[in-house]
Amino acid sequence: MTGTQEQQAANAAVEPPEDAALRRRIRQLLEEGLQTEVHPRADTPEMVQEVVHRLQEECGDDLQCKLVVAGFTLQPVEHGGMEQACETCMYYLIHRKWCELPELDVPVEPQWSCRLWRI
Ligand code: SF4
Repeated sequence: MTGTQEQQAANAAVEPPEDAALRRRIRQLLEEGLQTEVHPRADTPEMVQEVVHRLQEECGDDLQCKLVVAGFTLQPVEHGGMEQACETCMYYLIHRKWCELPELDVPVEPQWSCRLWRI
């Protein structure tokens, strides 16, 4: 096991049960076919503002709404010559496997993605 894998295993072991349950719930919703707004991607500051505003106004703490409006996927999305995955996003907290964008604030996996991806 590499150092990274050991760290990840240690993190997984100490993850609070509620975080793990929420992570499972998100995966389940997406695997069950929840249709999310994968496109258009938020390429411009105006588009980012629009999506963030909708998350604030329409979703609040509604998990399903957040996944839909942010365009969550269980795999990276190729866009503009880039592979957009949570693990390369500026909002990704690597040790907690968490999205720290305040309007999302949910557990994620490195290979998940959303249209607010930003490098
Ligand atoms: S903002 Fe970044 S870390 Fe958060 S869900 Fe979207 S791609 Fe993942």
